[in-house]
Amino acid sequence: MMALDKVYEQVVERNPGEEEFHQAVEEVLDSIEPAMKKHPEFADAKIVERLVEPERQIIFRVPWTDDNGEVHVNRGFRVQFNSAIGPYKGGIRFHPSVYIGIIKFLGFEQIFKNALTGIAMGGGKGGSDFDPKGKSDDEIMRFCQNFMNELYRHIGPDTDVPAGDIGVGGREVGYMFGQYRKLLNRFEGVFTGKSPEWGGSLVRPEATGYGLVYLTQEMLDTVNEDLKGKEVLISGSGNVALHALEKCNELGAKVVTLSDSDGTVYDPEGISGEKKDYVFDLKQVRRGRIREYAEEYDVEYEDDCKPWGFDADIALPSATQNEIEEEDAQKLVDNDIIAVGEGANMPSTPKATKVFQKNDILVGPAKAANAGGVSVSGLEMAQNSQRESWSFDQVDKRLQGIMQNIHKTCYETSKKYGDEGNLMLGANIAGFVKVAKAMLDQGVI
Ligand code: NDP
Repeated sequence: MMALDKVYEQVVERNPGEEEFHQAVEEVLDSIEPAMKKHPEFADAKIVERLVEPERQIIFRVPWTDDNGEVHVNRGFRVQFNSAIGPYKGGIRFHPSVYIGIIKFLGFEQIFKNALTGIAMGGGKGGSDFDPKGKSDDEIMRFCQNFMNELYRHIGPDTDVPAGDIGVGGREVGYMFGQYRKLLNRFEGVFTGKSPEWGGSLVRPEATGYGLVYLTQEMLDTVNEDLKGKEVLISGSGNVALHALEKCNELGAKVVTLSDSDGTVYDPEGISGEKKDYVFDLKQVRRGRIREYAEEYDVEYEDDCKPWGFDADIALPSATQNEIEEEDAQKLVDNDIIAVGEGANMPSTPKATKVFQKNDILVGPAKAANAGGVSVSGLEMAQNSQRESWSFDQVDKRLQGIMQNIHKTCYETSKKYGDEGNLMLGANIAGFVKVAKAMLDQGVI
């Protein structure tokens, strides 16, 4: 549709150099044409033009002092993208690659993902180009405190509720929440991913990885397949990857790879039992490198390698954006992969996605497949406002129900719009229509 092409051209022109943001916008605009035809009122109200422009973008200085007394200056970001259906909600990423284009792509994706969960949350994202790797605990704490010294004035339990993402886990959330509480003298649910001892929800650390596996099982059900007995490639070895590994093991699948930014381990016997405990300790406690797993268990390790060339049935990319390129997708297809569940945000390039679609591979798009994390964040917000703590089983059951609903919504939407089983189309349209209707109802603001 001409009008959508024009919007895309404008986005590229007005946001020069922000390639990841352009990519995320293009993917959504490519899907929503049938919904625009069905709802001409969206075009009249310039809903798409408004949607691609963040409501607010905050960029700030974060000075901090290292253990030798040297001062460093990083850049902090918070993009409050859309609050039509609820307070801004989305994680904070600390990684040297972070710049405004990455935060905008993540914030934009978050709008539709959050809409799919059925919980009232708008879309936002934040972060910094600070590199946590190799920093001492004190340095991390000082950085988090200085980051919050500016961010606190822009967030709040009914305004904007951040969480973790790459480089931000329970430790960093603790330091940021602590500083917020000190600055405002208020204990309130301004962050999710907190420790259960002080307001966090059980299952929040596990939620993205578990949810990814639940959604993957839902996809497999539609072709009468089961995770049980399947071989799985997982990339990354952080929060999402490790909890996807744990749930795959519980459901009887065999995970044969994990990776980090240095390389990939391949363990044909499966990473389970004592080996699973080892890798959790290695990554979450000792903060070591994945090659140490290969040294410990004498298995194959390749430097500078991604998992996609190894033989398996299912791929769960859980590291970072654009980690599956066209040739990686082709390798997976050549190895007869049947399903891809996107744990990371936008892990497949547009060309890789085309390869999957051409070969009828089941694809669980990130907006649906990794929505378990933000869903349990929504449940954490609910527990905080009621001053309640729900049991592990209670939250896990809610998570499973939410992932089943997300799959059903995406599947039924894809069918309604004439491309049954194209979950990317289903996720984009279902998320978009919900937010667009809310924007329409609330007038031109
Ligand atoms: P973590 O920081 O816990 O782990 C990230 C993992 O990915 C690490 O193993 C890291 O390796 C690897 N990685 C990061 N960047 C790169 C890169 N450029 N190239 C190769 N490997 C890389 O992050 P999470 O597990 O939380 O996040 C992983 C993905 O899941 C991200 O895309 C995130 O946006 C997405 N996500 C996370 C959610 C959550 O709840 N945490 C929710 C929804 C989505 P190394 O240590 O060497 O850098």
